[in-house]
Amino acid sequence: MDLKDKIRSIEDYPQKGVIFRDITTLLKDAEGLKDAVDAITASLADVSFDLVLSPESRGFIFGMPVAYNMGKGFVPVRKAGKLPAETISKEYELEYGTATIEIHKDAIKPGQKVVIVDDLMATGGTAKAIMEMVEEMGAEVVASAFLIELDFLNGRKALPDCRVEAVIHYE
Ligand code: AMP
Repeated sequence: MDLKDKIRSIEDYPQKGVIFRDITTLLKDAEGLKDAVDAITASLADVSFDLVLSPESRGFIFGMPVAYNMGKGFVPVRKAGKLPAETISKEYELEYGTATIEIHKDAIKPGQKVVIVDDLMATGGTAKAIMEMVEEMGAEVVASAFLIELDFLNGRKALPDCRVEAVIHYE
């Protein structure tokens, strides 16, 4: 069975006109979970980097095992108010309203090379906000890797100077 066939599509969720790509059906499938993590890992095989950064919460599901597989550290990017030590934060636009995400100030050192891993790239807004924070910290995003890319939203445009990898595409 194809990896894509293990993702459930739910129409009009969370709002009318959106097709939600539900990865829970893939995650509960032992082979699907392994193949998904392995495919993201393989897409980064030739990238030289220090850290994986992922946004909560679905990003954690893939980012941490990719970091573990590749012998790298993992840095969680969290919603505002969740991280206990000093943070830098960034507000960014969502389709409706805004969101604020945070990273611990001491999580990334200047000059480090980081990779963003998330479950899905839609508009690319989340990845772009993370990239801006990384740059503010004097570090560099050398690649981003997703299980799923919604090609029709052109999220890559938000990350013009960044290598973007995606395992599964929806047109
Ligand atoms: P974006 O910042 O627009 O690239 O979207 C980032 C996050 O929104 C992704 O990590 C997903 O978790 C979620 N998301 C957006 N669109 C969908 C969708 N059609 N199905 C499932 N998750 C989505």
